[in-house]
Amino acid sequence: MLERILSKEECAACRLCCKFDSYDLWQTPVISQSLASRILQEYSPEIRFIRRDEHFLMKMTREPEADLYYCPLLDHERGCIMGDDKPFDCEIFPFRVMNLNGTLVLTLSPECPVVNSKCFDDVCKAALETAGYAFECAHDSPELVKPYIEHYPILAVEESRYGRQFI
Ligand code: SF4
Repeated sequence: MLERILSKEECAACRLCCKFDSYDLWQTPVISQSLASRILQEYSPEIRFIRRDEHFLMKMTREPEADLYYCPLLDHERGCIMGDDKPFDCEIFPFRVMNLNGTLVLTLSPECPVVNSKCFDDVCKAALETAGYAFECAHDSPELVKPYIEHYPILAVEESRYGRQFI
């Protein structure tokens, strides 16, 4: 989906979005009940989940010598063991669907070093290409929506009063 700005090779060489410190554990992927079952059956029966209302987060273990948590679905040699079947948050990263005063917006996480090195026009085009899908998923699964964070640039807005429009 983000081929315009991210190649598989670039993601494989980076994997920054698959590790977290204690300040950004909130960014760990939101997992639905059905996805949790699929992960256990098809990818890793070892994974443990933490329930958050109607969804789950994956339990992560802190590295012994650092404030660092690796996603349990990350294979350090091969990358994400889910391949193209990743959770929504990972699928659209570094974009995030956020709620700004009741309106869905597609924002850009400042943390992806690969996308930060790309032409901003291409990043904006990729955001517009992603927005329709991302907003549909957010309507189907509201738990995917995160509260707006002030410094995150907004690249697309859903204007629901007038139909779905993007800027
Ligand atoms: S699910 Fe896959 S892509 Fe997402 S954080 Fe875990 S290892 Fe990375």
